[in-house]
Amino acid sequence: MVNQTSKVTIVPESEIAGLITSQTAFDAVEATFAAMSRRSAYNFPVIREAIGHADALYGFKSGFDRESLALGLKSGGYWPENEVRGLTNHQSTVILFDADTGRVKALVGGNLLTALRTAAASAVSIKYLAPKNARVLGMIGAGHQSAFQMRAAVEHRNFEKVIGWNFHPEMLSRLSETARDLDLPFESVSLADLGEQADVIISITSSFAPLLMDSHVTSSTHIACMGTDTKGKQEVEASLLTRATVFTDEIAQSISIGEAQHAIASNVLKETHINEIGSVINGDHPGRNTDDEITLFDGTGVGLQDLAVARVAVDLAVERGVAREVTF
Ligand code: NAD
Repeated sequence: MVNQTSKVTIVPESEIAGLITSQTAFDAVEATFAAMSRRSAYNFPVIREAIGHADALYGFKSGFDRESLALGLKSGGYWPENEVRGLTNHQSTVILFDADTGRVKALVGGNLLTALRTAAASAVSIKYLAPKNARVLGMIGAGHQSAFQMRAAVEHRNFEKVIGWNFHPEMLSRLSETARDLDLPFESVSLADLGEQADVIISITSSFAPLLMDSHVTSSTHIACMGTDTKGKQEVEASLLTRATVFTDEIAQSISIGEAQHAIASNVLKETHINEIGSVINGDHPGRNTDDEITLFDGTGVGLQDLAVARVAVDLAVERGVAREVTF
């Protein structure tokens, strides 16, 4: 007789904060980027659609990691009217499957995990690419993700100051409060001053036009472009990518939905000039070559990042007795 039932582990959104630290997310994402570069983990094409209801964008990101056996998808999207309902506009859930049998294995709340895995990606780029003596962190963007980005970044260099700019200045309090929590002084500056003074720049906005211009960046810096994850979005001027050594999580996404899409479309950058961050982690690419170089990480956000952190969340939830199990 064939057993048709599966035991499914549920890790609700409310448990994630107690399970996943920024270090846990960092380790999972670093290992995933390395596995992607060894070609033992790969992402499937991204689906993202305007569904013609509630103004929502819905989609899923999926993939498989043959090393960790993480198989599954993150599904969800953006519901702009959620805020008036007292809900987060971004909604996501991760579904994991058993790689040996295809049976559903776990259902994991994906909202906080998304912020943690995105911050972990830019932190990985900072660890491997930022100037060693970086002292000033420049933040472009002050939305939901920005606080997670700042907290993860400061774990990898001895920053002495945070400077920031945002399209909506009234949101800058998020940056100043996060910096205060981290015992760092914060100053709101113009984009030109930010480009001139910051040793590391993180951009995390939903902009559709360049904010940081080529002329703003006057010396060595590392730029983590984290906001551009959709066709049409843009945070930095395309010509800046020609001055920088460019890295990404996944080249296919970088040239289609990432920051590099514009430089590629205008023929100022060739796909062959974009490097995988995983190759730096694996020691196949030296990363930053000189102290006065500009490095740029195009963090497009891949499904494997979501699967990696969700897999760890399931293991920890089971270990600590906070997972719920249902027979399915
Ligand atoms: P949010 O809605 O909380 O904040 C939006 C940010 O963009 C704010 O700083 C806002 O001032 C700024 N902004 C809005 N309109 C702008 C405009 N016209 N010009 C310049 N700036 C503008 O969003 P969030 O959750 O902080 O996400 C920010 C971005 O990061 C989004 O584009 C989101 O899709 C992207 N994101 C990327 C990844 C990834 O893996 N790369 C993961 C999560 C989110």
